[in-house]
Amino acid sequence: MTIHHTTTDAGAPAPSDEHSLTLGPDGPLLMQDAYLIEVMANFNRERVPERQPHAKGAGAYGRFEVTNDVSAYTRAAVFRPGAVTDVFARLAGNVGERGSADTLRDTRGFSVKFYTDEGNLDIVGNNVPVFFIRDPLKFPSLIRAAKRRADNELHDNNMLWDFWTLSPESAHLVALVMGDRGIPRTFRHMNGYGLHAFSWINSAGEIHWVKYHFKSNQGVEWLSQQEGQHMAGTDPDCCLRDLYESIAAGDYPSWSLKVQIMPFEDAKTYRFNPFDVTKVWPHSDYPLIDVGVLTLNRNVTDHHSEVEQAAFAPSNLVPGTGLSLDRLLLGRSFAYADAHRNRIGVNHNQLPVNAPRVAVHSYSKDGRMRFVPATDPVYAPNSMGGPRADAYRAAEVRWRADGEMVRAAITRHAEDDDWVQARTLVRDVMDAGARNRLVNNVIQHVSQGVQEPVLSRVFDYWKAIDLETGQQIEAGVLANLHPSATPAPRMENAR
Ligand code: NDP
Repeated sequence: MTIHHTTTDAGAPAPSDEHSLTLGPDGPLLMQDAYLIEVMANFNRERVPERQPHAKGAGAYGRFEVTNDVSAYTRAAVFRPGAVTDVFARLAGNVGERGSADTLRDTRGFSVKFYTDEGNLDIVGNNVPVFFIRDPLKFPSLIRAAKRRADNELHDNNMLWDFWTLSPESAHLVALVMGDRGIPRTFRHMNGYGLHAFSWINSAGEIHWVKYHFKSNQGVEWLSQQEGQHMAGTDPDCCLRDLYESIAAGDYPSWSLKVQIMPFEDAKTYRFNPFDVTKVWPHSDYPLIDVGVLTLNRNVTDHHSEVEQAAFAPSNLVPGTGLSLDRLLLGRSFAYADAHRNRIGVNHNQLPVNAPRVAVHSYSKDGRMRFVPATDPVYAPNSMGGPRADAYRAAEVRWRADGEMVRAAITRHAEDDDWVQARTLVRDVMDAGARNRLVNNVIQHVSQGVQEPVLSRVFDYWKAIDLETGQQIEAGVLANLHPSATPAPRMENAR
């Protein structure tokens, strides 16, 4: 093995790996020890700010292969029959910090960057198909309520349930997270969902609304509350380890990408507001259509430059794909790119993991850490032969909008309320065992620190989802809080 000589970051030979420059062996350090200063200064700057949500995650490269023909709905090259596209995926926790356990009860991030022939397409989703809130104005509060208190830096279930119960649109996702899918066994054993309604436009200019579903070909598996707590103590990095080791062993995880397609006009009269991200489109109304298979087959070699600095943004769209009227999506289309500008820098798209695999001809210029040179002309329009936008190639999806400016809740369609789909989940999708585990998970969570007046609201919230489930939760929590007054319910968290 060749041993190289240490250099400074500027490539000059380093004077020592172990000894600072001092005035005599016992004297003070000398300011002119530029190498010591470089070593210490680099160390001080090793960490970039961690992501606000989704701080801890694993990443891997792979491929996406189209297996069906969806060209009637989109002209995107990445979804053409037979197309094969390189991808990078990041699978992550949510509110836990970078050092947190992988088995906290929470949602998981599921983000995929497709390096397509028409630029990068990012699908930035979660392991559950809906979200807690539907207006981006509430997003920072949602995350702050789940993170740490200002005074003692502790997590506080009381503030979490305070926010959730004052935001009844959270009911569907809270029911999902408190159920089995709240602790995926591994990142490989969870689905990914694009969450929002997006738009697709075909070669004829016709628009459809679309939802993305990545179905795990490993199956959906989960850990009980006790198993999750046990793993948090024994192998808190179990999901990162599992993904890395599976890929290293050649056991490549894959997901089948399926879509639900809604004709443009259906959106106006559909029984649920289709742009409400707290709701799914029931499969019976819009069945899943196969698109292709996503396979992760190559590990990163430097977690920091490839996973930490990976920057996914729902605004990274390619011709044939677009946004929708979902206001959380419209908010995210600003917030993600802006978070990366703050966290990594304005030129984050020049980093190898983020850089598109096609030539970039933008008019962006300068800024910190730019290393791809800008070229003249640096303005548009120009008469110097600079790049010219082509609206046809961009295939921007547009629709008609008209109305007064208001601050109001989104329009409710015939069957919209905040409880209906949570109730379907709890009553019709979960079997008795799953419902029992849900009840016990909630009892345990709420018994840890939730106080009046939040406590009564928690019971009302669950009774609004499902009366019987709410009554069981109320009885169980009260028995835990006042053990002598009420007979204790059975705490069954075992599978
Ligand atoms: P279906 O009755 O056709 O199927 C229910 C779906 O729920 C399954 O396909 C599965 O989704 C998911 N699921 C199954 N068991 C559980 C569980 N224990 N916890 C959480 N999710 C589970 O669904 P509908 O479309 O009629 O919707 C009914 C309810 O199903 C919704 O209110 C929603 O809560 C849930 N659901 C619906 C999804 C959708 O996009 N329509 C997606 C996921 C859940 P999958 O196959 O994706 O694993």
